[in-house]
Amino acid sequence: MGKVFIKKLCIKTCHGVNDFEKKQPKRFVFSAEIDCDFYEAAKNDEISQTVNYSTACKLITAVATGNVFNLIETLACRCAQAILENFPSARSVRLRVDKPQAPVKAKFKTMSAEVFLRRERAYLSLGSSMGDRKAYLDFAVKELASTRGITVKKVSSYTESAPYGGVAKNMFLNACVAVDTYLPPRALLNEIHRIEEAGERSRSLRWDDRTLDIDIIFYGRQVICEDGLTVPHPEYSRRAFVLEPLKEIAPDFFCPLTGARIKDLVAPGG
Ligand code: ADP
Ligand code: MG
Repeated sequence: MGKVFIKKLCIKTCHGVNDFEKKQPKRFVFSAEIDCDFYEAAKNDEISQTVNYSTACKLITAVATGNVFNLIETLACRCAQAILENFPSARSVRLRVDKPQAPVKAKFKTMSAEVFLRRERAYLSLGSSMGDRKAYLDFAVKELASTRGITVKKVSSYTESAPYGGVAKNMFLNACVAVDTYLPPRALLNEIHRIEEAGERSRSLRWDDRTLDIDIIFYGRQVICEDGLTVPHPEYSRRAFVLEPLKEIAPDFFCPLTGARIKDLVAPGG
């Protein structure tokens, strides 16, 4: 790993919640710290394999001058996203926006907002047991792929499984998808709920038949235990319909909670 830094790039542009700020250009100062693997770039002395700081400055300038945002938080996020979207070798970015001319009646050096975005590999499980099940899974993959901040890297084959949990009656069609995303876990879950709803998902009984269910199985190596979000998914190792497609796309992934390797796991009764 290495880091590319951009320190105090000055751009005159208009951002702010007040109407007068949207018309009167002021000085904004941008700093970025970009984590990237530049081993190959250094080995080959090849600029296309690292984060080209000149291109990065152009990206920041385009975001800063091509939009008028209320918040420097928005400005920082959009610049960080542009960097991750344009440089595949960038793993994470910390981006700070200083607004030294912020209209605040006080003695201060600068007002600032800083964002940190990291690209993570997440594994999702898809399931459908109603209607045209294949079409619902295809729809989910297509929607994931067209969501900003999500890149679909691998899709397993679709496999049939018997209903689970004693409520659903239909056969399920299941798959697993590997995605790269810079969306934080909650934002990823919100996008998943949006896609489920667009897939006419009705939330009735837990484990009941459904047109489309999408679960987060792993999010990088993070362990999350919050209200409404548990990762790794608490049931994944007991579900053959998750493990079998997961073995296809991530056989050597280690569960961050137990250290078990996916290809070695067998669901009870499997
Ligand atoms: P299930 O997938 O268990 O059949 P639902 O899809 O209706 O049930 O999910 C119920 C709730 O589970 C969701 O509202 C969501 O907030 C929560 N949840 C907790 N952890 C996860 C996870 N890892 N992936 C997806 N949803 C999760
Ligand atoms: Mg679910």
